[in-house]
Amino acid sequence: MTELRIPDRLLEPTTERASPVLTDAIGRRFEYLRLSLTDVCNFRCTYCLPDGYRKVAGRAPDLSLDEIRCAVTAFARLGLWKVRLTGGEPTLRPDFTSVAKAVAAVPGIRRVAMTTNGYRLAERAAEWRDAGISAINISVDSLDPARFASITGHDRLEEVLRGVAAAKAAGFDSIKLNAVLMRGVNDDELAAMVAFVQDHDLSLRFIEVMRTNDNAAFFRERHVAGQSVIARLEAAGWTRIARAVGAGPAVEYAHPDASGRIGIIAPYARDFCASCNRLRLSSDGKLHLCLFGDGGLDLRPLLQEGAEAALSERIAALTATKAPAHRLHQGSSGATPHLASIGG
Ligand code: SAM
Ligand code: SF4
Repeated sequence: MTELRIPDRLLEPTTERASPVLTDAIGRRFEYLRLSLTDVCNFRCTYCLPDGYRKVAGRAPDLSLDEIRCAVTAFARLGLWKVRLTGGEPTLRPDFTSVAKAVAAVPGIRRVAMTTNGYRLAERAAEWRDAGISAINISVDSLDPARFASITGHDRLEEVLRGVAAAKAAGFDSIKLNAVLMRGVNDDELAAMVAFVQDHDLSLRFIEVMRTNDNAAFFRERHVAGQSVIARLEAAGWTRIARAVGAGPAVEYAHPDASGRIGIIAPYARDFCASCNRLRLSSDGKLHLCLFGDGGLDLRPLLQEGAEAALSERIAALTATKAPAHRLHQGSSGATPHLASIGG
């Protein structure tokens, strides 16, 4: 097997740990991999897959368990230590628990997280926690059953909330509800959602609707700026807290009366890309340097060979070419049809 050779300029020495640190040409450090396990989804969220999942002609099959193990090993050799399992709906994979176990067992991986629409969470939370997943984000865009059904296409709010309770009982050390805020749909629920997570000792992420290739009209009609949420939180006594190491892109707020936190993910905010610390691998084996980039960079041949060292080299070289910022403000959301195709 070839020796791992990563250009020196991409690796900064660190006094805290022996593992390398992957950086790009402008010095951003990459610690976090979003790994999409499938683009298939059983929900039809209005901002993502309003017509439901449709198989894309010519798309390569989902990565196998061996390919996933090889990919995560290659990223871990570059110093990435946090992996989020996402999709599509990642839990639709019949081998989801085996994948979680395999990812958690890769040397260097210190945290495995998942994002789910809550499908089968009530029955499976304990199994997934035992498999090594310690953090879970659950999408709940409304606490009103009828609205939840009209947003997702499924009358399953009660089932998803039972899943949230099961996740608490299973002992996940981070449980966050993700809510995409939409003008005229659920933007009147901000206070109710904040109260809900306070009552249940959870954290919440408000996500701005992001424009993708497929949802331009929806975005124009429904986008709510994260800044308006921030103003309302600050008026209610929430204060901004510092970003934790390896944290996601959310700006986080805490309140003296709440143990949970509220985060705002606002990709349209100024300097959003400056703190980018993640890379993405789609379920067909493409490296996405940006959610709104020009298409994925194919790693499949190396994944199929199981060529971990060569893969690390390739990932490091490609990461060096990452653009400094997305072009959403110039009206370009890149080549991403919808976030289910890459994993959000
Ligand atoms: N199916 C899982 C779920 O919904 O949680 C995981 C995949 S989903 C693509 C990941 C996250 O992206 C979810 O929180 C979802 O709400 C969010 N998302 C999808 N499309 C979006 C869009 N256009 N704008 C903002 N967030 C979006
Ligand atoms: Fe499926 Fe998640 Fe997209 Fe909703 S947001 S359609 S649950 S992938």
